[in-house]
Amino acid sequence: MRALLPWYDVHKRDLPWRRTRDPYAIWVSEAMCQQTQIGTVLPYYERWMERFPTAGSLASASLDEVLSLWQGLGYYRRARALHSGASLPFPTTFEGWLGMPGVGRYTAAAIASICFGEAVAVVDGNVERVFARFMGSETVGPRRTKAAFEWANGVLCSERPGDSNQALMELGATVCKPRQPLCASCPLQDGCAAFREGLQGTLPVASPRVVPEAISQSCLIPVHLGKIGFLRAAAGEWWSDLYRFPDGTSPYPLGLVKFAVTKHRVTLQAFLHESELEGVEWFTPDEARALPLPAPYRRLLESFLAANAPTGGLMEFASEP
Ligand code: SF4
Repeated sequence: MRALLPWYDVHKRDLPWRRTRDPYAIWVSEAMCQQTQIGTVLPYYERWMERFPTAGSLASASLDEVLSLWQGLGYYRRARALHSGASLPFPTTFEGWLGMPGVGRYTAAAIASICFGEAVAVVDGNVERVFARFMGSETVGPRRTKAAFEWANGVLCSERPGDSNQALMELGATVCKPRQPLCASCPLQDGCAAFREGLQGTLPVASPRVVPEAISQSCLIPVHLGKIGFLRAAAGEWWSDLYRFPDGTSPYPLGLVKFAVTKHRVTLQAFLHESELEGVEWFTPDEARALPLPAPYRRLLESFLAANAPTGGLMEFASEP
């Protein structure tokens, strides 16, 4: 493992959050990078740090503005957690960060090691993969995560824990990739069990696939006096604090979107509703476009506006992810 840090020093990607140790900036980057590709995150991160360069500037912004800026990244609870945590004093330890809104082991360890030099290992999917291959481990699920933690803590460089953690994750992301790992340029090749035994293709052992449950939903697109109606999703509902179309059907189907959320595969069918509707707020098309909307409802809105703008008549549309 000695070759890892020298490799990282030479080969690490130049990412904006690697030029700072500001815990606020690192927290934003960690929150954005969860379940999202770095290439997708970069423009969001730049925009976010330009608009909210400090925790104070984020804390004093409205939740609507925060959610609007997050639009497209999904998993909005991450944005809500950042917003609510921004007004709290920032801890300086792993344990302290575990008490911040929405912060789990992974993020707490990343911030504590990168910003405060605390020797706690960070384990993400990349590190688990490197662990399984390097150690030749056939474990799966929580057993593998636990074993990867123990291994990562054991190999952590206590003098440079932040870089040490990032080096392992970087290796998994850029060299020990899920398919066709680049073993020829890997600094861990010498001690790697998978390389020695030619097991890169079978390790890590795949976890049993969870088959998503297919569900159907329907919603109304309320249109009245040139405006479009939306509900604000209540706390505890999917997409709480975002705007969405109200549930319901009518004799006038417009189109559908398909999307995946958690363990569900959802088909959402939209119907036209042309009159007042209790409980909705009304917006012009331009105002509607500026609302914080979950991606499926945004696709419905855009398809609806695109289908109906030229003629003023109502046309059916379909939208696939
Ligand atoms: Fe991964 Fe290959 Fe490096 Fe082993 S030698 S850690 S399989 S890239």
